[in-house]
Amino acid sequence: MPIRRLDDQLISQIAAGEVVERPASIVKELMENSLDAGAGWIHVTIEHGGLRRIVVADDGNGIARDDLGLAVARHATSKIDSLDALESVASLGFRGEALASIASVSQLTLTSRAVDADRAYAITPATSAEPRPAALDRGTRVEVRELFARIPARRKFLRAPATEFAHIRKAFNQLALSRFDIGFVLHHDGTEVARIAPAHGPDAMQQRVDKLIGGAFGDHAVAVDEQAAGMRLSGWIATPGFSRGQADRQYSYVNHRPIRDKVFNHGVRLAYRDLLHNQRHPAYVLYLTLDARQVDVNAHPAKAEVRFRESRLVHDFVFRSVGRALAAVEAKPHAAREV
Ligand code: ADP
Ligand code: MG
Repeated sequence: MPIRRLDDQLISQIAAGEVVERPASIVKELMENSLDAGAGWIHVTIEHGGLRRIVVADDGNGIARDDLGLAVARHATSKIDSLDALESVASLGFRGEALASIASVSQLTLTSRAVDADRAYAITPATSAEPRPAALDRGTRVEVRELFARIPARRKFLRAPATEFAHIRKAFNQLALSRFDIGFVLHHDGTEVARIAPAHGPDAMQQRVDKLIGGAFGDHAVAVDEQAAGMRLSGWIATPGFSRGQADRQYSYVNHRPIRDKVFNHGVRLAYRDLLHNQRHPAYVLYLTLDARQVDVNAHPAKAEVRFRESRLVHDFVFRSVGRALAAVEAKPHAAREV
Protein backbone atom coordinates (compact mmCIF):
# COMPACT_ATOMS: atom_id res chain seq x y z
CA MET A 1 0.00 0.00 0.00
CA PRO A 2 1.32 3.47 -0.75
CA ILE A 3 1.84 5.89 2.12
CA ARG A 4 -1.26 7.99 2.71
CA ARG A 5 -2.24 10.65 5.21
CA LEU A 6 -4.97 9.47 7.55
CA ASP A 7 -8.13 11.53 7.53
CA ASP A 8 -9.05 13.51 10.64
CA GLN A 9 -11.83 11.21 11.74
CA LEU A 10 -9.51 8.20 11.65
CA ILE A 11 -6.74 10.11 13.44
CA SER A 12 -9.22 10.95 16.20
CA GLN A 13 -10.43 7.38 16.46
CA ILE A 14 -6.88 6.11 16.78
CA ALA A 15 -6.05 8.75 19.39
CA ALA A 16 -9.30 7.93 21.19
CA GLY A 17 -7.96 4.44 21.81
CA GLU A 18 -5.50 5.94 24.27
CA VAL A 19 -7.87 8.34 25.97
CA VAL A 20 -11.16 6.45 25.95
CA GLU A 21 -10.53 2.96 27.16
CA ARG A 22 -13.98 2.46 28.67
CA PRO A 23 -16.94 4.48 30.01
CA ALA A 24 -15.01 5.32 33.19
CA SER A 25 -12.35 7.13 31.14
CA ILE A 26 -15.06 9.36 29.68
CA VAL A 27 -16.45 10.12 33.12
CA LYS A 28 -12.95 11.00 34.30
CA GLU A 29 -12.20 13.34 31.39
CA LEU A 30 -15.56 15.10 31.67
CA MET A 31 -15.30 15.53 35.43
CA GLU A 32 -11.79 16.91 35.00
CA ASN A 33 -13.12 19.47 32.54
CA SER A 34 -15.77 20.50 35.06
CA LEU A 35 -13.12 20.89 37.77
CA ASP A 36 -10.99 22.98 35.41
CA ALA A 37 -14.04 25.15 34.65
CA GLY A 38 -14.28 26.17 38.31
CA ALA A 39 -17.45 24.20 39.05
CA GLY A 40 -18.90 24.22 42.56
CA TRP A 41 -21.02 21.14 41.85
CA ILE A 42 -20.62 18.28 39.41
CA HIS A 43 -23.51 15.95 38.59
CA VAL A 44 -22.78 12.63 36.92
CA THR A 45 -25.63 10.58 35.48
CA ILE A 46 -25.01 7.08 34.18
CA GLU A 47 -27.29 4.62 32.40
CA HIS A 48 -26.50 0.96 31.98
CA GLY A 49 -22.91 1.21 33.19
CA GLY A 50 -22.32 4.13 30.82
CA LEU A 51 -22.93 1.95 27.78
CA ARG A 52 -26.26 3.65 27.13
CA ARG A 53 -25.65 7.15 28.42
CA ILE A 54 -23.18 9.29 30.34
CA VAL A 55 -24.04 12.84 31.35
CA VAL A 56 -21.74 15.17 33.25
CA ALA A 57 -23.15 18.58 34.16
CA ASP A 58 -21.52 21.41 36.06
CA ASP A 59 -22.07 25.00 37.14
CA GLY A 60 -18.68 26.20 35.91
CA ASN A 61 -17.67 29.03 33.56
CA GLY A 62 -19.25 27.56 30.47
CA ILE A 63 -18.19 27.91 26.84
CA ALA A 64 -19.08 30.75 24.49
CA ARG A 65 -21.24 29.89 21.47
CA ASP A 66 -18.45 30.57 19.02
CA ASP A 67 -16.02 28.31 20.92
CA LEU A 68 -18.24 25.22 20.96
CA GLY A 69 -16.85 23.94 17.66
CA LEU A 70 -13.29 24.42 18.87
CA ALA A 71 -14.02 22.66 22.16
CA VAL A 72 -14.73 19.44 20.27
CA ALA A 73 -11.86 19.91 17.78
CA ARG A 74 -8.59 18.04 18.23
CA HIS A 75 -5.66 19.81 19.85
CA ALA A 76 -7.77 22.79 20.80
CA THR A 77 -7.55 23.94 24.41
CA SER A 78 -8.05 27.06 26.49
CA LYS A 79 -5.63 25.78 29.14
CA ILE A 80 -2.15 26.23 27.74
CA ASP A 81 -0.68 28.35 24.97
CA SER A 82 3.05 27.62 25.19
CA LEU A 83 5.62 25.08 26.25
CA ASP A 84 6.33 27.23 29.25
CA ALA A 85 2.68 27.06 30.29
CA LEU A 86 2.76 23.28 29.89
CA GLU A 87 5.71 23.01 32.24
CA SER A 88 3.85 24.71 35.05
CA VAL A 89 0.31 23.66 34.16
CA ALA A 90 -2.11 23.65 37.07
CA SER A 91 -5.25 22.51 35.25
CA LEU A 92 -6.09 18.81 34.93
CA GLY A 93 -6.48 19.12 31.16
CA PHE A 94 -4.03 20.55 28.64
CA ARG A 95 -4.00 18.17 25.67
CA GLY A 96 -7.14 19.52 24.01
CA GLU A 97 -8.01 16.00 23.03
CA ALA A 98 -10.67 14.53 25.29
CA LEU A 99 -13.85 15.96 23.79
CA ALA A 100 -12.67 15.31 20.23
CA SER A 101 -11.67 11.74 21.12
CA ILE A 102 -14.95 11.02 22.87
CA ALA A 103 -16.94 12.57 20.01
CA SER A 104 -15.14 10.35 17.50
CA VAL A 105 -16.31 7.15 19.20
CA SER A 106 -19.79 8.15 20.35
CA GLN A 107 -22.66 10.54 19.84
CA LEU A 108 -21.62 13.51 21.95
CA THR A 109 -23.70 16.60 22.64
CA LEU A 110 -22.06 19.57 24.30
CA THR A 111 -24.42 22.15 25.77
CA SER A 112 -23.08 25.21 27.50
CA ARG A 113 -23.88 28.67 28.68
CA ALA A 114 -20.94 31.00 29.14
CA VAL A 115 -21.14 33.05 32.35
CA ASP A 116 -21.73 36.29 30.48
CA ALA A 117 -24.05 34.88 27.79
CA ASP A 118 -27.81 35.41 27.83
CA ARG A 119 -28.54 31.90 26.67
CA ALA A 120 -27.13 28.43 26.14
CA TYR A 121 -26.10 26.70 22.91
CA ALA A 122 -25.53 23.09 22.00
CA ILE A 123 -23.47 21.27 19.44
CA THR A 124 -23.61 17.64 18.28
CA PRO A 125 -20.54 17.23 16.08
CA ALA A 126 -21.78 13.94 14.58
CA THR A 127 -24.79 15.66 13.04
CA SER A 128 -23.85 19.32 12.61
CA ALA A 129 -20.94 21.67 13.22
CA GLU A 130 -23.38 24.55 13.84
CA PRO A 131 -24.30 25.48 17.43
CA ARG A 132 -28.06 25.67 18.04
CA PRO A 133 -29.91 27.47 20.85
CA ALA A 134 -30.54 25.16 23.80
CA ALA A 135 -32.00 25.20 27.29
CA LEU A 136 -29.49 25.26 30.17
CA ASP A 137 -29.43 27.63 33.14
CA ARG A 138 -25.71 27.67 33.70
CA GLY A 139 -22.47 25.85 33.19
CA THR A 140 -21.88 22.95 30.87
CA ARG A 141 -23.55 19.64 30.20
CA VAL A 142 -21.96 16.89 28.13
CA GLU A 143 -24.02 13.93 27.05
CA VAL A 144 -22.45 10.83 25.55
CA ARG A 145 -24.52 8.13 23.87
CA GLU A 146 -23.86 5.16 21.62
CA LEU A 147 -20.35 4.61 22.85
CA PHE A 148 -18.36 2.57 20.32
CA ALA A 149 -21.59 1.93 18.36
CA ARG A 150 -19.70 2.42 15.10
CA ILE A 151 -16.62 0.54 16.34
CA PRO A 152 -17.68 -3.04 17.09
CA ALA A 153 -14.07 -4.08 17.75
CA ARG A 154 -13.93 -1.68 20.69
CA ARG A 155 -17.42 -2.41 21.90
CA LYS A 156 -16.50 -6.07 22.27
CA PHE A 157 -14.02 -5.18 24.97
CA LEU A 158 -16.61 -3.58 27.20
CA ARG A 159 -17.69 -5.63 30.18
CA ALA A 160 -21.05 -6.08 31.81
CA PRO A 161 -22.73 -2.83 32.90
CA ALA A 162 -22.13 -3.62 36.57
CA THR A 163 -18.39 -4.00 35.94
CA GLU A 164 -18.21 -0.82 33.89
CA PHE A 165 -20.12 0.99 36.61
CA ALA A 166 -17.64 -0.24 39.24
CA HIS A 167 -14.88 1.43 37.19
CA ILE A 168 -16.95 4.59 36.93
CA ARG A 169 -17.49 4.57 40.67
CA LYS A 170 -13.74 4.33 41.22
CA ALA A 171 -13.06 7.24 38.85
CA PHE A 172 -15.79 9.26 40.55
CA ASN A 173 -14.36 8.55 44.02
CA GLN A 174 -10.90 9.41 42.85
CA LEU A 175 -11.96 12.85 41.66
CA ALA A 176 -14.34 13.44 44.57
CA LEU A 177 -11.31 12.98 46.84
CA SER A 178 -9.21 15.36 44.78
CA ARG A 179 -11.02 18.55 45.76
CA PHE A 180 -12.90 18.91 49.03
CA ASP A 181 -14.40 22.31 48.22
CA ILE A 182 -16.58 20.88 45.46
CA GLY A 183 -19.84 18.93 45.64
CA PHE A 184 -20.40 15.75 43.64
CA VAL A 185 -23.51 13.75 42.78
CA LEU A 186 -23.66 10.36 41.07
CA HIS A 187 -26.79 8.72 39.63
CA HIS A 188 -26.96 5.28 38.10
CA ASP A 189 -30.09 4.00 36.35
CA GLY A 190 -32.30 6.48 38.16
CA THR A 191 -30.86 5.88 41.63
CA GLU A 192 -28.76 8.41 43.50
CA VAL A 193 -25.63 6.47 44.35
CA ALA A 194 -23.65 9.28 45.97
CA ARG A 195 -24.24 12.86 47.07
CA ILE A 196 -21.19 14.53 48.51
CA ALA A 197 -21.51 18.09 49.75
CA PRO A 198 -18.58 20.52 49.65
CA ALA A 199 -16.47 19.83 52.73
CA HIS A 200 -14.88 22.67 54.66
CA GLY A 201 -12.81 21.94 57.76
CA PRO A 202 -11.05 18.81 58.95
CA ASP A 203 -14.15 16.98 60.24
CA ALA A 204 -16.05 17.36 57.00
CA MET A 205 -12.98 16.31 55.06
CA GLN A 206 -12.51 13.23 57.19
CA GLN A 207 -16.20 12.35 56.73
CA ARG A 208 -15.87 12.53 52.97
CA VAL A 209 -12.86 10.26 53.06
CA ASP A 210 -14.63 7.71 55.30
CA LYS A 211 -17.71 7.75 53.11
CA LEU A 212 -15.84 7.32 49.84
CA ILE A 213 -13.28 4.79 50.95
CA GLY A 214 -15.76 2.73 52.90
CA GLY A 215 -15.16 -0.13 55.26
CA ALA A 216 -13.94 1.14 58.58
CA PHE A 217 -11.19 3.27 57.08
CA GLY A 218 -12.00 6.13 59.43
CA ASP A 219 -11.46 3.97 62.53
CA HIS A 220 -8.02 2.99 61.32
CA ALA A 221 -6.91 6.21 59.66
CA VAL A 222 -3.90 8.16 60.79
CA ALA A 223 -3.39 11.70 59.57
CA VAL A 224 -0.21 12.55 57.70
CA ASP A 225 1.09 16.06 57.28
CA GLU A 226 4.77 16.58 56.59
CA GLN A 227 6.80 19.18 54.78
CA ALA A 228 10.35 19.21 53.50
CA ALA A 229 12.37 20.57 50.60
CA GLY A 230 9.44 22.46 49.08
CA MET A 231 7.18 19.42 49.20
CA ARG A 232 4.19 18.66 51.35
CA LEU A 233 2.57 15.28 51.95
CA SER A 234 -0.82 15.26 53.65
CA GLY A 235 -3.79 12.95 53.93
CA TRP A 236 -4.55 9.71 55.72
CA ILE A 237 -3.05 6.27 55.89
CA ALA A 238 -4.66 3.23 57.47
CA THR A 239 -2.96 1.23 60.16
CA PRO A 240 -1.72 -2.18 58.99
CA GLY A 241 -4.80 -3.90 60.49
CA PHE A 242 -6.89 -2.33 57.75
CA SER A 243 -4.72 -3.68 54.96
CA ARG A 244 -6.34 -5.36 51.99
CA GLY A 245 -5.79 -8.33 49.74
CA GLN A 246 -6.13 -5.94 46.80
CA ALA A 247 -4.61 -2.55 46.14
CA ASP A 248 -8.07 -1.05 45.69
CA ARG A 249 -8.02 1.50 48.49
CA GLN A 250 -5.04 3.51 47.43
CA TYR A 251 -5.53 7.07 46.32
CA SER A 252 -2.59 9.26 45.46
CA TYR A 253 -2.56 12.81 44.16
CA VAL A 254 0.08 15.14 42.92
CA ASN A 255 -0.96 18.77 42.97
CA HIS A 256 -4.63 17.62 43.17
CA ARG A 257 -4.25 15.40 40.13
CA PRO A 258 -5.09 11.71 40.68
CA ILE A 259 -2.08 9.66 39.67
CA ARG A 260 -0.61 6.23 39.84
CA ASP A 261 3.09 6.29 40.20
CA LYS A 262 5.59 3.54 40.93
CA VAL A 263 7.99 5.82 42.77
CA PHE A 264 5.25 7.18 45.01
CA ASN A 265 3.69 3.77 45.67
CA HIS A 266 7.04 2.23 46.43
CA GLY A 267 7.78 4.94 48.98
CA VAL A 268 4.53 4.17 50.80
CA ARG A 269 4.95 0.43 50.52
CA LEU A 270 8.47 0.58 51.91
CA ALA A 271 7.24 2.42 55.00
CA TYR A 272 4.86 -0.48 55.73
CA ARG A 273 7.55 -3.05 54.94
CA ASP A 274 7.96 -4.50 58.41
CA LEU A 275 4.28 -4.20 59.29
CA LEU A 276 2.59 -5.90 56.36
CA HIS A 277 2.81 -9.30 54.75
CA ASN A 278 3.81 -9.30 51.13
CA GLN A 279 0.37 -10.06 49.76
CA ARG A 280 -1.35 -7.32 51.77
CA HIS A 281 -1.86 -3.80 50.48
CA PRO A 282 -2.06 -0.68 52.62
CA ALA A 283 -5.02 1.70 52.29
CA TYR A 284 -4.30 5.39 51.93
CA VAL A 285 -5.34 8.76 50.57
CA LEU A 286 -2.28 10.91 50.12
CA TYR A 287 -1.76 14.32 48.61
CA LEU A 288 1.65 15.41 47.47
CA THR A 289 2.09 19.03 46.57
CA LEU A 290 5.24 20.43 45.08
CA ASP A 291 6.35 23.02 42.58
CA ALA A 292 4.59 22.23 39.29
CA ARG A 293 7.95 22.50 37.53
CA GLN A 294 9.22 19.52 39.52
CA VAL A 295 6.74 17.19 37.86
CA ASP A 296 6.01 16.37 34.23
CA VAL A 297 2.29 15.69 33.87
CA ASN A 298 2.55 15.02 30.15
CA ALA A 299 3.80 11.46 30.48
CA HIS A 300 0.64 9.55 29.62
CA PRO A 301 -2.27 10.13 27.19
CA ALA A 302 -4.84 9.64 29.95
CA LYS A 303 -2.70 11.79 32.26
CA ALA A 304 -2.72 9.06 34.90
CA GLU A 305 1.04 8.89 35.21
CA VAL A 306 3.56 11.59 35.95
CA ARG A 307 7.33 11.90 35.97
CA PHE A 308 9.17 13.49 38.84
CA ARG A 309 12.24 15.49 38.07
CA GLU A 310 13.84 14.37 41.35
CA SER A 311 12.23 11.01 41.81
CA ARG A 312 14.64 9.85 44.50
CA LEU A 313 13.83 12.91 46.58
CA VAL A 314 10.09 12.32 46.22
CA HIS A 315 10.45 8.63 47.02
CA ASP A 316 12.43 9.27 50.20
CA PHE A 317 10.14 12.06 51.32
CA VAL A 318 7.05 9.87 50.91
CA PHE A 319 8.78 6.96 52.65
CA ARG A 320 9.91 9.06 55.61
CA SER A 321 6.59 10.88 56.01
CA VAL A 322 4.49 7.73 55.99
CA GLY A 323 7.04 6.00 58.19
CA ARG A 324 6.83 8.75 60.78
CA ALA A 325 3.03 8.61 60.85
CA LEU A 326 3.14 4.84 61.32
CA ALA A 327 5.78 5.08 64.03
CA ALA A 328 3.60 7.55 65.94
CA VAL A 329 0.79 4.97 65.99
CA GLU A 330 3.11 2.20 67.03
CA ALA A 331 4.28 4.32 69.94
CA LYS A 332 0.73 4.76 71.24
CA PRO A 333 -0.35 1.51 72.95
CA HIS A 334 -4.08 2.26 72.64
CA ALA A 335 -4.06 3.28 69.02
CA ALA A 336 -5.69 1.01 66.50
CA ARG A 337 -3.06 -1.58 65.76
CA GLU A 338 -3.89 -5.09 64.86
CA VAL A 339 -0.73 -6.33 63.28
P1 ADP B 1 -8.51 20.05 27.53
O1 ADP B 1 -9.27 19.80 28.78
O2 ADP B 1 -7.22 19.31 27.50
O3 ADP B 1 -8.36 21.50 27.21
P2 ADP B 1 -10.83 18.93 26.22
O4 ADP B 1 -11.03 18.29 24.90
O5 ADP B 1 -11.18 18.13 27.41
O6 ADP B 1 -9.33 19.41 26.29
O7 ADP B 1 -11.67 20.27 26.26
C1 ADP B 1 -11.44 21.26 25.26
C2 ADP B 1 -11.81 22.63 25.75
O8 ADP B 1 -13.23 22.74 25.92
C3 ADP B 1 -11.24 23.01 27.10
O9 ADP B 1 -9.93 23.56 26.98
C4 ADP B 1 -12.23 24.04 27.61
O10 ADP B 1 -11.95 25.31 27.11
C5 ADP B 1 -13.55 23.57 27.01
N1 ADP B 1 -14.35 22.80 27.97
C6 ADP B 1 -14.50 21.46 28.00
N2 ADP B 1 -15.31 21.07 29.00
C7 ADP B 1 -15.70 22.20 29.64
C8 ADP B 1 -16.55 22.47 30.77
N3 ADP B 1 -17.18 21.50 31.46
N4 ADP B 1 -16.72 23.77 31.12
C9 ADP B 1 -16.11 24.76 30.44
N5 ADP B 1 -15.30 24.57 29.38
C10 ADP B 1 -15.09 23.30 28.97
MG1 MG C 1 -10.12 17.96 29.29
